[in-house]
Amino acid sequence: MIEINGAGPAGLAAAIDIANSDYEVCVYEKQKEVGSRFAGSYQFMFIPGSNTDARFFLRTFLPNPILKKMFLVPIHTIKISTMSKTIEFYSIKPVFWTIKRGSSNDALDTALLNTAKSKGVKVKFGSTCDSPLIDATGGKIPKGIAREFIFDTDIDDVFHIIMDKRLAPGGYAYLCVINKKATLCVAVTKQMEKIVDYANECLQVFKEVYGLEMKNIHVQTNYVSFEIKDSYIDDSVCVGECAGLQDGLFGFGMWYAITSGQLAAQSLINDFDYDKSAKALFLPLLKTGRVNRYFYEFFETFFGNVFYNVLLDFSKRKKIKNLFKQLTEPSLIKLWIYDFIGD
Ligand SMILES: Cc1cc2nc3c(=O)[nH]c(=O)nc-3n(C[C@H](O)[C@H](O)[C@H](O)COP(=O)(O)OP(=O)(O)OC[C@H]3O[C@@H](n4cnc5c(N)ncnc54)[C@H](O)[C@@H]3O)c2cc1C
Repeated sequence: MIEINGAGPAGLAAAIDIANSDYEVCVYEKQKEVGSRFAGSYQFMFIPGSNTDARFFLRTFLPNPILKKMFLVPIHTIKISTMSKTIEFYSIKPVFWTIKRGSSNDALDTALLNTAKSKGVKVKFGSTCDSPLIDATGGKIPKGIAREFIFDTDIDDVFHIIMDKRLAPGGYAYLCVINKKATLCVAVTKQMEKIVDYANECLQVFKEVYGLEMKNIHVQTNYVSFEIKDSYIDDSVCVGECAGLQDGLFGFGMWYAITSGQLAAQSLINDFDYDKSAKALFLPLLKTGRVNRYFYEFFETFFGNVFYNVLLDFSKRKKIKNLFKQLTEPSLIKLWIYDFIGD
């Protein structure tokens, strides 16, 4: 029996692949249900450094009937604001796919759970394993903090990002409304202890811009973990956010979680070195994220909101989908800069 701790995307993706090869798998989840960390918030599927449509990625491991029940909505239009200007970007191809996290029937976590169960994976809720083969227990080292408001509202669909040092230092804020359901998220990497104040200020800004009426509000605060580890194996094989696998600038972590879970599973089934393969696949991307974050924080510290204006002016000449790809794509120069700045 192969034992895994954590029924998030990383643990369940690993379990699905292992069960596909007829091994017995048990996933231990310390909470009473999947997705408790996120409780209904929207997240955005994007494959770092790639133009691949994230929906195709999901299709490779979720069966069609399960995928069809999932909340999966493309984002074509993104508004980005700085202190003094707002620019609206449009892409014919989806920039991201919005998914829902949590335990509802249409959430990614439920889709993964149902897929795992359909393959015979045992999932034990409210429990943990003392010595799991795979550790998929989520973030450990707080590099940032995010506060989310999840609520019902009457306003039309929108995806609006704000970059402003006064509102979200070292991070950003966004409001995403789809079919009258909203997630407002404020993420900071500096002055993390003031997250509640920053979040409330951002909420006021969005309220003023959109005249937001909020109903059935749920608020949650989560740490964000990303780091570059020396090894992806300690007492267990480490996958997902507990291995620090997450984009250092934008916080995209779902692709890392699922892919590292699958890689760990394949390394057990086909007997290859997970640590070596994980490093080959993820390190260039993680280092790129680290360099992006270094410049983001450096320029914000020295030039404040002027930097965000310059960044937005630079971005408006680009195709938004390509921009996210190019920023997260490793290049020789970024890897070379990483060697100077380190983690
Ligand atoms: C506010 C916020 C917004 C985000 N937005 C995005 C986004 O838009 N796009 C994106 O790609 N990524 C996003 N991320 C990152 C993404 O959520 C994570 O990278 C992803 O959830 C990591 O998956 P995981 O399976 O490694 O960990 P988790 O999803 O955290 O799952 C870990 C599971 O392990 C369980 N667990 C913990 N300890 C134990 C234990 N001892 N025993 C058993 N079970 C245990 C937990 O209860 C949890 O269910 C966001 C993160 C945050 C905080």
